[in-house]
Amino acid sequence: MIIIRTLFILMICVSISACGDRPDEQADSTNAIDTNKRFRWKMVTTWPANFPIIQEGAEKFADDVRDMSRGRLDIQVFAGNELVPPLGVFDAVSQGSVEMGHGSPYYWAGKVPAAQFFSTVPFGMTVSGMQAWLYHGDGLKLWREIYQPFNLIPFPMGNSGVQMGGWFNKKIESIEDLKGLRMRIPGLGGKVFKRAGGNPVLMAGGEIYTALERGTIDATEWIGPYHDLRLGLNRAAKYYYYPGWHEPGTEFELIVNMDHWQELPDDLKKIVEIAAGATSEWVYSAMEYHNSHALQELKQMKNIKMLEFPADVLTELRQMTRVTLQQEAAAAPDFKKVYDSYSAFRDIYADWSSLSTEAYRRSLN
Ligand code: CA
Repeated sequence: MIIIRTLFILMICVSISACGDRPDEQADSTNAIDTNKRFRWKMVTTWPANFPIIQEGAEKFADDVRDMSRGRLDIQVFAGNELVPPLGVFDAVSQGSVEMGHGSPYYWAGKVPAAQFFSTVPFGMTVSGMQAWLYHGDGLKLWREIYQPFNLIPFPMGNSGVQMGGWFNKKIESIEDLKGLRMRIPGLGGKVFKRAGGNPVLMAGGEIYTALERGTIDATEWIGPYHDLRLGLNRAAKYYYYPGWHEPGTEFELIVNMDHWQELPDDLKKIVEIAAGATSEWVYSAMEYHNSHALQELKQMKNIKMLEFPADVLTELRQMTRVTLQQEAAAAPDFKKVYDSYSAFRDIYADWSSLSTEAYRRSLN
């Protein structure tokens, strides 16, 4: 016992003398961070200027980083089309013409099909499962591996929460009702919708209202009550369906060009990482807060009907999703690798949440 204690004291002495008796060395390691060096960076986003919560989140992130670094990392934020087009964000950051970007990984599905798992997939995990997989499972590790060939390092930065199923100008009572329907629904959700006989249409946010109002499309999904209301979709279609089976919790990303990232001193890297995490929390909680209020507004409106998709429609869509994901996995090894990790965690997380979150929810009924 005495020997162990003596050894322990000796170890402390050694470690104290290692950093205490040689002030010149200590000064050297502090000086390794040049606190006078200032970085002026640009961040481009995929969002419209003033886009509530999401573009706001990107701007809040830049403000937080500026404050925490006392101006050493000054990030100027540009909305979609201010510097590069929304869908040009990935390439601009990858090439390093700008240092950072904010968007959602599924926008890059054409280039990186596996990226869709880091956004959301139909009937996939909600925010809590996503974050567990990203931060504590292999999610973020795989994400970084998948983006590495593009010279990018990604960070989770926000989540939409469960989206709404969308606005329809007719009732959906069976899977047959989706046949021939022209709906604005992007990504894997769109592929599943097509398998169900629907006609998925790609369309930017700004065009949706007019297209639906004029009958160019029969239905659209957008985000949730808060953003849908701001777009005026309640004036363009009568039936508002839930849940958003195709986007159960869309994750947003901060992407940083790897060469520029490596130029940052460690303390600024840490500030970026922590600020991205804080922004995630801020964006997701803002979505939940504002959607709760907007839902109350929608419930007052007599001209619209809020309806749940029939259970058998959801069951069929879920089966079609499984086939769609398996086909995509067979076509791309990266997709399969991420799909395997994602679904392994999704399955055990479903077990856990059925007797935690869901059981608790049932106890309130
Ligand atoms: Ca959506």
